[in-house]
Amino acid sequence: MKSNELLKCPICSFSIAINMLELNCGNFDDSMLYQMVKVSACGQCGHVYNRLLPDEIVGLMKYYDEEYAPTNIGSTNQTGDRPGSNDKNTLRRYDRLYDVLSKYINIDVRVLDVGCAMGGFLDYLHAKDFKILFGIDPTPKYVDCAKLKGNYSIKLGSAESIPFADNSFDLLVLDQVLEHLVEPRKAFQEASRVLVDGGLFCIGVPDASRYDGTYFFDYYWFIMREHIQHFDFEHLKLMAEMQGFELVGFSKNETPMMSEKMILPNLNVIFRLTGKRSEIKVTKKCFSLTRKIKKYVANEFERLNEKKVLIHRLVESQRPLYAWGMGREFLYLYESAGLKKCAIAGLIDVNPYKQKIFTVAGKRIIPETVLKEATVDSVLIISAIAHVDAIKADLLKLGYKGEICTL
Ligand SMILES: [Zn+2]
Repeated sequence: MKSNELLKCPICSFSIAINMLELNCGNFDDSMLYQMVKVSACGQCGHVYNRLLPDEIVGLMKYYDEEYAPTNIGSTNQTGDRPGSNDKNTLRRYDRLYDVLSKYINIDVRVLDVGCAMGGFLDYLHAKDFKILFGIDPTPKYVDCAKLKGNYSIKLGSAESIPFADNSFDLLVLDQVLEHLVEPRKAFQEASRVLVDGGLFCIGVPDASRYDGTYFFDYYWFIMREHIQHFDFEHLKLMAEMQGFELVGFSKNETPMMSEKMILPNLNVIFRLTGKRSEIKVTKKCFSLTRKIKKYVANEFERLNEKKVLIHRLVESQRPLYAWGMGREFLYLYESAGLKKCAIAGLIDVNPYKQKIFTVAGKRIIPETVLKEATVDSVLIISAIAHVDAIKADLLKLGYKGEICTL
């Protein structure tokens, strides 16, 4: 592949795109994840996607192995929604997916869960008496984790290269996967190869047309840089029809992720393999996504400016500053909202993997017990936005004496 091809629209290959956003999202030291997100809208079909350079794609793949998967597996919070888990909110998401899927299948179908992560959805189907269950994942740590479940055949493999023979399955599930792919078209091509004629392709993605309606944190859906495709219903359908699939059913729903405050605008769509590829059909509806994303970006810009004002005051005062929650929200605030200029006294996270491995500008990540020693003039920023209530309860127990600030 020529390097400039990576910049073409992943749906229609058009090479002219409108720049929607460029944002510095910050990083842990030595992270392989690309730091600057560049969001574009295709000039022909209106699909919204991140433009990545070849070395940024290589880095992203390493990031999954070295940072993303071990952090998720090592997380002490198991009530939220981690990829392919059996966590409480993940099960709620499976329920919504199954609501739409169950109308079209029976328990004898041969199922492949593509990007099965820890194998949670296979467990879910197993509990509903499905018997022929396979899973693949491109991350070795997830494959090991899913294999421990014992009931299914799990292999290393990706949506873009499925390690099974032609016509092997009646149903392919691609839940919360397509938005991660550099070349989603390949996933459709592989699906049409391994599915039998008339086989079903079940897809779950965050609905980009509803990013603006489910505010959680500034630019959240763009600082989550693992998501490089931003699909809405129109573009998912457009791509499927161009690759030989027809629409069978869909559902637009909302489920909580890491907490009840953090809502996933979920889009579940079922396609059937027909093998008849259609020409590109761009309708007016395709361009409503560009308008919605423009509005979303403008609203988030306002929010960032409000935070900059608040953080500027902290910079001026040089009060000792602690931050609790070393994730994408913190890294963005550190880099783009001015937090890096503050007098940082401690970077806190309860995840043992983060404490062991990650640093920010040379500073280690430390346990919350450091706050017992914090002085009255200190400020604590709670950057683990999903866990604000739980953290406030912990602060009472720790006897933290400084000022608490939620952004
Ligand atoms: Zn396009």
